[in-house]
Amino acid sequence: MCGIVGYIGHRQAAPIVMEGLKRMEYRGYDSAGLCVLEQGNLLVYKRAGKVSQTESLLDYTTMHSTLAIGHTRWATHGEPNDINAHPHTDNSGKISLIHNGIIENYSSLKKKLISEGYTFSSDTDTEVLAVFIGHLYERTGDFELAVRSALSEVDGTFGLAVLCADQPDTLIAARRGSPIVIGIGDGEYIAASDAAAIIQHTRQVIYLNDDEMAVMHRSGYVTKTIDDREIDGEIHEIDFDIEQMEKGGFDHFMLKEIYEQPATFKDAIRGRLLVEDGNVKLGGLRPIEDKLRKARRIIILACGTSWHSGLVGEYMIEQLARIPVEVEYASEFRYRSPVIYSDDVIIAISQSGETADTMAAMKEAKLKGATVMGIVNVVGSTIARESHAGVYTHAGPEIGVASTKAFTSQIAVLSLLALHLGRMNQVSQTQGKVIAEALRAIPDQIEKILQTSDAIKEIALQYSHVTNFLYLGRGFNFPVALEGALKLKEISYIHAEGYPAAEMKHGPIALIDENMPVVIIATKDEVYEKVISGIQEVRARRGKVIAIATEGDMSIAEYADHVIYIPATLPMLTPALTVIPLQILAYAIAAQRGCDIDKPRNLAKSVTVE
Ligand code: GLU
Repeated sequence: MCGIVGYIGHRQAAPIVMEGLKRMEYRGYDSAGLCVLEQGNLLVYKRAGKVSQTESLLDYTTMHSTLAIGHTRWATHGEPNDINAHPHTDNSGKISLIHNGIIENYSSLKKKLISEGYTFSSDTDTEVLAVFIGHLYERTGDFELAVRSALSEVDGTFGLAVLCADQPDTLIAARRGSPIVIGIGDGEYIAASDAAAIIQHTRQVIYLNDDEMAVMHRSGYVTKTIDDREIDGEIHEIDFDIEQMEKGGFDHFMLKEIYEQPATFKDAIRGRLLVEDGNVKLGGLRPIEDKLRKARRIIILACGTSWHSGLVGEYMIEQLARIPVEVEYASEFRYRSPVIYSDDVIIAISQSGETADTMAAMKEAKLKGATVMGIVNVVGSTIARESHAGVYTHAGPEIGVASTKAFTSQIAVLSLLALHLGRMNQVSQTQGKVIAEALRAIPDQIEKILQTSDAIKEIALQYSHVTNFLYLGRGFNFPVALEGALKLKEISYIHAEGYPAAEMKHGPIALIDENMPVVIIATKDEVYEKVISGIQEVRARRGKVIAIATEGDMSIAEYADHVIYIPATLPMLTPALTVIPLQILAYAIAAQRGCDIDKPRNLAKSVTVE
């Protein structure tokens, strides 16, 4: 998920690789490392913390190697410490590997390798792959074959670069689900996860596709598939600048992150969904499985966007598992002497895992004897360390201050959790399978909504001048109405309110006139008709209606000024879809108003103060 750089050529490799890592620092990471091949030995330097901390270990005047790999890590397996930082070496010390992504079957592979006498020093999935490649190299003596054979046996995602001490003229890079770009220079090659690390050396690049690899020597390179079919890697000319590149060609990180959601949603459910069993596997919950089974009540603690995903979680868990759920603002919970029982399970939700209010509330609950689980994005963060168990969202670093992909990843994890608890309870295998299949379809459905973003931007243009917005939704989509309003407030500074649709008549209806746009989530579910009545009430007062509706619902166009369609899914999963147009709408309005979208005024990404 973070940065990879590999260099082979005639120049001193270490400074080129370290410079490349610095160019990728904007992506966020937790540790860094370098491996150079000096006179037949792989020398590894790595540290938790900044690239500069790893760099302080280096003395470039003594480093002559022209072959090196370097990494910035965003931990998924094992805390961000020196040992877990990449590169990882095999047991013989001959193979050195840097890796982005997740090796899903690392645990079974690790067991097998341990039974054959191999040892491990880190908690990472990456080290397992390094040791596995080393094992195959020992057997065959063929470096490339060892890499190919290992990669054909692993499940999950990787962007990687690998070195072999016996092969001073070879650098191998490969990808499945995590990007790798190969920069083609004059007698030199740079493999990187991001063109930002390449552009000052060359603008000629090859983008590897999934299950492809590049084998580079100083005299030339081949691109091939992992199953050894040579391919013609098309060479592209990079024509955008560094700043654009950091944002992947998007104008803002927030937009980039909105567009990442098909991939991040997939990452959140990857390896966890057992479609045939209609169930899920959440290894991180093992320590509290029994407590979960016996939970009398679940209390979700969160702030901001995470609080909204918590509300969706409440509806999902209550529906599937029939366990009462309360969702609390962490800041309120901690100061109001809450009633907590020892058979309560607390779920703390936080993107950063460092949200001060959530942390304090969670401590309070622990003190009172409750079991605490975390749903966090940042591995090894305080909430992750201090909870009894947890599930990571695996959304990768989120840089835009207004959360987007972290929200949908939290929804993904909460739906997995709800299904898991539901299957312990009243949900049958057949029902479970229907939910699992619907979950599996969500990433493609998000993609489909993203393709309609031009039409959403058109709508945004008509309303970018207004001073107030109302967002209405019911059931699973009430929290989405809150989240839509929050997104707009955060980045465009337009005042926006989210309400349960039926509450409108108890107050906010007084605000409605021809200047008030009202976003109404009206997907086809059991409350659809009621929401339509709400739309009519808004129209009767000349309010402008922007409806979010289910594909195929033609009749809604009669009642609304604008309709944005989302693909049909189960009602409980609609939040993962309905929130997407609301993110795009907020983004487009803020862009039209010329706001500082990635760093909105007065806001911080990780709220570490009370
Ligand atoms: N899964 C690997 C780890 O946790 C790779 C992390 C990354 O993508 O940076 O070490």
